[in-house]
Amino acid sequence: MANNFRVFATCDIGPALDVLRERGYQVEVYPDPTAPPKSLIIDKVRSGVDGLITTLRDQIDAEIFEAGKGTLKVVAQFAVGFDNINRADANRYKIPFTNTADVLTEATAEFAFFMLGAVARKLWPAEHLTRENRWSFWHPYLPFLGDEVTGKTIAIIGTGRIGLAMIKKCAGFDMNILCYDPAYQNHEYVNAIQETMDLRHARGIQKEKTWIKYVSFEEALGQADFVSVHVPLLREGESNTPTYHLFNERTLKTMKPSAFLVNTSRGPVVDENALAKALEENWIAGAALDVYEKEPLPADSPLRSPAIEDRCRLFPHFASAAKITRLSTDPNKGMAGRCVQGLIDVLEGNYGGDVTKMPYVVNKEAF
Ligand code: NAD
Repeated sequence: MANNFRVFATCDIGPALDVLRERGYQVEVYPDPTAPPKSLIIDKVRSGVDGLITTLRDQIDAEIFEAGKGTLKVVAQFAVGFDNINRADANRYKIPFTNTADVLTEATAEFAFFMLGAVARKLWPAEHLTRENRWSFWHPYLPFLGDEVTGKTIAIIGTGRIGLAMIKKCAGFDMNILCYDPAYQNHEYVNAIQETMDLRHARGIQKEKTWIKYVSFEEALGQADFVSVHVPLLREGESNTPTYHLFNERTLKTMKPSAFLVNTSRGPVVDENALAKALEENWIAGAALDVYEKEPLPADSPLRSPAIEDRCRLFPHFASAAKITRLSTDPNKGMAGRCVQGLIDVLEGNYGGDVTKMPYVVNKEAF
């Protein structure tokens, strides 16, 4: 197959790029592991590339689309989240952009669950105790105890793909589940989870009866032992229910003092200054974060305060960072495979060239 499309990838996404090369594409990859400056992306786009492969580190907006006027045909984002892409600008310039939904759903949900376990059962302070040779006796409750996860109540904020996958994992730990989502409520899924809970109880697989239901945001926060966040970052003007600083002083105070917050969504969904204060002043019991208002997390972030380090777990935007999930060239398994397939669909005019029929294109409304 002879294609001489030109593609610039702002980051090396692994062997999936060879799929493009094998099809005859000219693929240029920004060689540094850090993000390229925006000016460089603009220069590459202006030089006439047909496709751009981007990550969440790249700000993609009118400046980029203007530079690619008449030549740039697609932006393929290596992520499900696309808050770094200005959708209104993409639509104005009629440039389709794709994402890598679904293939990272289970990996992200399982990591959210592991983060929850890590902060609740004090894995980090417990390992430090052992490694630093401060474990000098076995004792029923000294030097500290953790909080069980089994049988507790979790609030799932955002019941899209990852929220629903998290529900499935939590149901396996005999948890009660409060769901909140103002825009999308999957009652069929929730009913099916309730049926599996009832069956597990009836067959003696779990001792206590458990339940799942949709509730208001306030009820979810007020009743949960754990709150796990699975929303996209939506700023004021982008949604009727924006998620920017959804967790702030007021909403954090709504949570129980014994509750834990887990955030694998996007950093700006949580007001970090408010969260640091909430942890310092014990409004909540702990937090586990994978994403931050500014990434990488600045050296002077209040979240690094030694006063809260035993109950504040910090991870490097790592929830989807598993081998098959990130790098598989199979579009049904890996982000890389899906990213490249989204690009191919647009450039090679798959689906009869109808962008609205292409499964990985996000901004179908522009076409
Ligand atoms: P999705 O679109 O399937 O689900 C998001 C859900 O959030 C939707 O159902 C939506 O209705 C809901 N929502 C929107 N506004 C809300 C609000 N104000 N309150 C509550 N719910 C609201 O997306 P997804 O595939 O489940 O991914 C969710 C987000 O997770 C992504 O947008 C991305 O930012 C983030 N993510 C992070 C990582 C990571 O590595 N940490 C990996 C994957 C995804």
